Amino acid sequence: MKRTSFRKRLDSDQLSSPAQRPWLSAGICGVLAGCAGLSLAQGAGVPDQLAPMAPATVGGFLGQRLDLWRTHRLPRVGEDAFLLQGFERPPGQHVWQGEHVGKWIHATTLACVAAPDPKRQALLHQTVARLIATQAPDGYLGTYLPANRFDNPRDPKARGSWDVWTHRYVLYGLLVYDRHFPDPNAVAACVRIGDLLLRTFGPGARALNEVGTRAGLSSATVLESIVMLYERTGEERFLRLAEHLAEGVERNPALRPTDAMREGLGVTVCGDGKAYQLMAVMLGYAELYHHTRRRDYLETAIKVWEQIREHHTYVTGGPWSYAAVPAQNAECFAPPSFFHPTNCVETCSTTTWVQLSLRLWRQTGEARFATEAERAMLNHLVGAQSPNGTDWAYHTMPNAPSRGYESAITCCASSGPRALELYARHLAATGSGALVVNSYLPAVVGLDSKLGAAGRFVIEGRYPFEPQAALRGELTQPAELTLHFRLPAGVTAMDVVVGGQPQALRPTPAGYLELKRTWRPGEKAVVRFEFPLRAHFQTGRDGVRWVAFTWGPLTLAQDVVRQVDQPEVVLALDEKNADPAAWLRPVTPARDDGLPRWRLTAAGHRNVILQPYGSIGASGGAVRTMFPNHR
Ligand SMILES: [Zn+2]
Repeated sequence: MKRTSFRKRLDSDQLSSPAQRPWLSAGICGVLAGCAGLSLAQGAGVPDQLAPMAPATVGGFLGQRLDLWRTHRLPRVGEDAFLLQGFERPPGQHVWQGEHVGKWIHATTLACVAAPDPKRQALLHQTVARLIATQAPDGYLGTYLPANRFDNPRDPKARGSWDVWTHRYVLYGLLVYDRHFPDPNAVAACVRIGDLLLRTFGPGARALNEVGTRAGLSSATVLESIVMLYERTGEERFLRLAEHLAEGVERNPALRPTDAMREGLGVTVCGDGKAYQLMAVMLGYAELYHHTRRRDYLETAIKVWEQIREHHTYVTGGPWSYAAVPAQNAECFAPPSFFHPTNCVETCSTTTWVQLSLRLWRQTGEARFATEAERAMLNHLVGAQSPNGTDWAYHTMPNAPSRGYESAITCCASSGPRALELYARHLAATGSGALVVNSYLPAVVGLDSKLGAAGRFVIEGRYPFEPQAALRGELTQPAELTLHFRLPAGVTAMDVVVGGQPQALRPTPAGYLELKRTWRPGEKAVVRFEFPLRAHFQTGRDGVRWVAFTWGPLTLAQDVVRQVDQPEVVLALDEKNADPAAWLRPVTPARDDGLPRWRLTAAGHRNVILQPYGSIGASGGAVRTMFPNHR
């Protein structure tokens, strides 16, 4: 049979030169104006290249993970008095206690849209109403006492304050809630917050960087929420406030991300390189570009993203951090020379990395951004979620004595479910007149009238645990459709067969494989991938050469159930003649759970089984993803 698969080099960029990046070209307005149906709430900005299509249902691996959160953690947090205690009886017991309700409303709103449930919805509506009821007449909606509120210039603790931060999440949660469950009360509460922020930090008033940690970087995360408020209300004063705050960030010698990126300083200097906050501020920059057309915002966000991708992510897709200098803590980006498989990834960082990647994906249409979101989701993010559905890990590492799952309401346990819900809404998209197949996870995607076809595509199979998937087109009548397939993370080749016929796939400038054809109702496309086994070597700050293995999009790891009789494995692989297929052998048959498994072939290590990183850890034992390649 003629094989018409598409191949690419694993390490090649999807787009290598600025000339190939349409968003950098002067002709961007003309290019984007052609994107039918993609419009802005306000008229002046740059429309996104892609509009995500939330699937009607999500099954398989991601569906199970969503069910776990929705069934167990969602009510466990929503019914916990801690969620609203700081608002109803201030002060909060913890300085950033106020963030949790906003994060919970965000994730729960998306859960209620995707999987309607009367009890869950009642809890959501009730929580929103109780939160709004605590707002002060001046607009304050936080957990601090008047002496310590962000609008009090005499607060001696202002630099350690998380009060603006709380309002970032309150705004975010309420605005996402209103998007799906229109609520004038929620919008009015947000406007009152916006006006309080404007009076406090607007032109001629207090500098935002006087409040909050990391020279104000933590407070600057409110940028994205303020732009969302502008998008919802159309009130220019909020866009001006956001721009004013961004100017303050750029003038601040301890932050100034745009200049730092232009000078090649890397992501370790801005606000001490605090990973979560820096990525969250870049979400604000992406929104500012969307509404102002100022390309420097987007360029900075993309440069930050590229730096993180290149120097600060693990093979599991999580952005690692390390306290390299005394001013930093374990959650700050450190120079690449500080790499080590025990450096932590804050689950908030993984979540924000996924958010930023998906935001840039929608904005630019480039496949590379979605690929990194996928890598992080399929490995690092789900590795932070306990299979008991309630617990999450705060810090996760490739190599750790245990996952460290806990039930407590922490920043990270409040962030992780947001990544699950958000990612589930990005499995497919429309753009440039095509249906973009961003994921091969089982899902049902309704077709958009903009595509000129009625019906739905049903994606079936066991991806990512097997290297293939089926797309069944349940169309009401034959229709010509253009599909853009994204090559999954770590995948070298794919082919598409319809009715026994291999289909010709054409690479697109944005990094997809295009298939244009007339689909008949019920026709099925079989998508087959080449999942190579790969070895990834990296030298740690201890001088050790560490090696990890991947199979397609999945990173493999050892679940060390009994640590006493499973000492750390030291491998002695010939890196120059790397042939992972000789170092690992598939274990057949697979066990009942159907997860793929491999066995090390090195003498003395044949008892070492490797499995998908995201699917282990329930034993409570250690996780080992990277192995020393010498003693
Ligand atoms: Zn966190």
